[in-house]
Amino acid sequence: MGQRILVVDDDQDSRVIMRTILENNGYEVTAVSNGREALERLATETIDLVLLDVMMPEMSGLEILQRMKESPAMGHVPVIMVTARTQDEDLMNGYQFGADYYITKPFTAKQLLYGIDLTLGKGEPAA
Ligand SMILES: [Mg+2]
Repeated sequence: MGQRILVVDDDQDSRVIMRTILENNGYEVTAVSNGREALERLATETIDLVLLDVMMPEMSGLEILQRMKESPAMGHVPVIMVTARTQDEDLMNGYQFGADYYITKPFTAKQLLYGIDLTLGKGEPAA
């Protein structure tokens, strides 16, 4: 069975795009639209990596990241922040809270898979 990636994004189109790319490349996908569901899934499923949208209502991606890192059960799961924002301050915030990598929207399939391979320690993927 492939590794399972949790996609957290309030935008349905983004979730569909990420699910399609990931499933086409052998990953299992759990996709949710908010922080509450994300934390529930992290508590009940074996998740190998989280793709976390930054801009979401109610609970932002940074807030979810902080909660994950405070939890002994979830703190070890690698996190890639997915953001339309490109301001340095936002990037620094995420890295401070323990994000492993950043992907900026809009992204290509290659960029997404590259970031995932790096974060999961598979090294440099074939170009
Ligand atoms: Mg969003």
